[in-house]
Amino acid sequence: MNNAYYQVTMPNNEPVNSYAVGTAERESLKAELARQSAVQVEIPVIIGGKEIYTGNTKTVTMPHDHHHVLATFHMAGEEELKAAVKAAMEAKKAWEELPWEHRAAIFLKAADLLTGPWRDKVNAATMLGQSKTAYQAEIDSACELADFLRFNVYFAQQIYQQQPNNTPAVWNRTEYRPLDGFVAAISPFNFTSIGGNLCTAPAIVGNTVLWKPSSTAVLSNYYFYQVLVEAGLPAGVINFVPCSGTDMSKYVLSDENLAGFHFTGSTAVFSGVWSLVGQNISKYRSYPRLVGETGGKDFIFAHPTAKVDELVSAMARGAFEFQGQKCSAASRAFIPASLWDEVKEKLLARVAELKVGDVQDFTSFMGAVIDEKSYRNIVNYIKYAEESADADVLCGSYDDSKGWFVYPTVIQAKKPDFKTMVEEIFGPVLTVYVYQDEKLEETLKICDQASPYALTGAIFAQDRQAIVEMERALRNSAGNFYINDKPTGAVIGQQPFGGSRASGTNDKAGSMLNLYRWISPRSIKENFLPTKAITYPFMDEE
Ligand code: NAD
Repeated sequence: MNNAYYQVTMPNNEPVNSYAVGTAERESLKAELARQSAVQVEIPVIIGGKEIYTGNTKTVTMPHDHHHVLATFHMAGEEELKAAVKAAMEAKKAWEELPWEHRAAIFLKAADLLTGPWRDKVNAATMLGQSKTAYQAEIDSACELADFLRFNVYFAQQIYQQQPNNTPAVWNRTEYRPLDGFVAAISPFNFTSIGGNLCTAPAIVGNTVLWKPSSTAVLSNYYFYQVLVEAGLPAGVINFVPCSGTDMSKYVLSDENLAGFHFTGSTAVFSGVWSLVGQNISKYRSYPRLVGETGGKDFIFAHPTAKVDELVSAMARGAFEFQGQKCSAASRAFIPASLWDEVKEKLLARVAELKVGDVQDFTSFMGAVIDEKSYRNIVNYIKYAEESADADVLCGSYDDSKGWFVYPTVIQAKKPDFKTMVEEIFGPVLTVYVYQDEKLEETLKICDQASPYALTGAIFAQDRQAIVEMERALRNSAGNFYINDKPTGAVIGQQPFGGSRASGTNDKAGSMLNLYRWISPRSIKENFLPTKAITYPFMDEE
């Protein structure tokens, strides 16, 4: 046994590579893109460390070139999912008894492998499979994912250090046990880092996990899984189970040993799982912890004192980077009438310059949206606006001949509760409502109340009193609130991320708050001088 308290020092955020012309990282990423474009990968289900090829397969294609198949993946069904639950339960004892610094070492090593020898591979897979530009992949699958791993280890250490008070002859300890069962992690397509975090955060504090990646992010997620294996993750601690949502619900989320559910994705799926857990509540051995980060209808609200160029930059980057497929993407803007003409002219001019295309062409600002279902959904919203008397489509078009391309679209709504002002679209569509300057207060109320979500939001103003008023009025409208900045791009350790209302449980991914959900503390009291008395002094005769 060791006779020392080991220390994980506060990590720094992983520096972001620029991939600028002439850099070595640009050349090596391009070589990896060419390599991955020329091969097809076969991805198994991985349970208890064993690769399983079920024969029930689906393909991963490039969204920007939808005939190009990158990989085939095998899907887990009833038999495999039940085996994965068994494997997770069997791996649990050894994993939770492993000294925590050895668990920590695995994830710290994974972060170094990811940002070192695996960086290009995971970034290229994220670019090709999820249609991210080099920069968008870099900030996601290399930097944010490494930050999740390093900061969560550091936060786990901070939690473990927290101990209760003592009194004379009494020593109190708090033990931070993992949950009494397994954790199911279900991840979305849009961030490789989220998939990596959903499965590792509970594991860092000693839980064993079933990880269901999104079918449109399987390739990058599979490479990250290999990073964990290379870092020394024992068999069965995280089981990699691509499968249908229905099978996951039926064979995993209804299992009596489900102790936690770590989800990021749409509000509808999370609500469905919450209902399922409610229906099964008498079946479980404990009350499953439900953590979900879900949809958003993120806003930019400009005050008449806002600086126009900064506002326009935030609108363009906030709404259109990664094709608007960030839960934090700006998708509605409230602009004062006094600024609108200038904002409109500059925004449309800047947006017209943005190149949309294959992400292997590094001059592209945007790639394609993730798949056909998403493309049709977004296009239907644009068509709805085109046909409505309550809106004007100021720019935007779409084309699915080669890839699922939706060009940056700006809609001007004549009503603040117009459909595209309140519903999540999850594509490159920004709807603007122009308010009369003197109606600031009532427009802030509309911004707060018109949409069910409360994820991110940004205000732009120079006047300090206005900033105070807007910050107060929008207090419950966003879990991540920005002043004179775009509402996207939260950084681990700096702006813990998550929202409330229909946007989720606000458990702040990548923070200590999230890790608390995956532990079940045990309070231990030891009495050094136990009493022999039975009665109390007040009971003595006077
Ligand atoms: P999605 O809800 O369609 O899918 C998420 C995951 O759930 C996938 O793995 C999917 O296969 C699975 N799933 C689908 N149906 C299921 C079912 N019935 N039972 C169990 N699992 C099921 O979401 P998506 O399209 O992958 O991602 C986009 C959504 O995610 C958007 O709504 C976006 O706002 C949200 N999102 C939120 C955050 C956040 O932090 N709040 C971050 C990223 C994405």
